[in-house]
Amino acid sequence: MNELLSRHTTFRIGGPAAALFTADSRENLKRVLAFARVNRIAWKVIGAGSNLLVSDQGFPGIVIKLGAGFAAVDWEKSAVHVGAGVPLAGLVDESAARELTGLEFLWGIPGTLGGSVKTNAGAFGRCIGDQVVEARVASAEGKETTLRREDLKFGYRRSDLPGDAVVTDVTLSCRKSKPDDILRRIEECRQQRLATQPKGASAGCFFRNPRGQAAGRLIDQAGMKGRRIGDAVVSDRHANFILNQGRAQFSDVYQLMELIKLEVEKKFGVVLEEETEILAEGIADAR
Ligand SMILES: Cc1cc2nc3c(=O)[nH]c(=O)nc-3n(C[C@H](O)[C@H](O)[C@H](O)COP(=O)(O)OP(=O)(O)OC[C@H]3O[C@@H](n4cnc5c(N)ncnc54)[C@H](O)[C@@H]3O)c2cc1C
Repeated sequence: MNELLSRHTTFRIGGPAAALFTADSRENLKRVLAFARVNRIAWKVIGAGSNLLVSDQGFPGIVIKLGAGFAAVDWEKSAVHVGAGVPLAGLVDESAARELTGLEFLWGIPGTLGGSVKTNAGAFGRCIGDQVVEARVASAEGKETTLRREDLKFGYRRSDLPGDAVVTDVTLSCRKSKPDDILRRIEECRQQRLATQPKGASAGCFFRNPRGQAAGRLIDQAGMKGRRIGDAVVSDRHANFILNQGRAQFSDVYQLMELIKLEVEKKFGVVLEEETEILAEGIADAR
């Protein structure tokens, strides 16, 4: 009870959830969803919390994480079936060890399969939606269905996953390739991330790239690099990263976000949209 969500987000920000429940099996998951439904309690499923900014008031409902029963990885010749709680990191390394290509671009994205399908995580011009064959989901009513890639209608950092659906398993396509080529591609991703991304607590790129433009460049040219509110700072290295350099509160990041949007709009007439999902009462999020 009252588990701090700052312990479950890469930003290390977020007050308590009324309850945090780790579902260790499908049955378990169905039971908690039924409990929430019958008792009219709000719920939210999270993965690694790497795309979330959570308010200091926390979440007045049940935060659900996927545990042991959603950690299986089953490799085939040209596909892998993965539990939605599996972190991307290990998956990429394992695919390389098995001489399978298709997942290299995911290297360095700190999410889980479930969160990555929801957000259609991607990098270097590729996204996970390109590799998804199908995803198995459970609805709030506990009904299980299989959604194919076409059903999920992946777009730029979004999918059509219904708001009340929990991804439980995902099938990704991959194919045999030369180990040297796979390792070279992973190394390229690694080098690019090392060269461009700051270290420290964040949720990755905070804003979506406006069509044909890089949000980071606009923020940089608006003179925002290094701007600070409390312990929230616009990274000097990559202006689209807001870092929590200590004890940043939700309000510090939120105010800094508003300031960035204001300055970018003033200078370029472009209204930036958040890529990081904001979980806070009274702040509507379209997702
Ligand atoms: C250092 C850093 C670098 C990053 N780089 C990238 C990058 O290159 N590209 C990129 O796209 N993103 C990047 N991100 C953002 C983030 O890692 C991705 O969006 C990631 O896919 C989110 O996965 P998650 O498991 O952490 O999801 P969370 O942040 O926990 O949740 C995100 C959303 O997914 C939903 N969700 C989570 N699990 C499930 C599930 N099982 N079923 C249904 N919905 C679910 C949540 O409710 C929420 O709406 C980066 C973040 C950091 C901190």
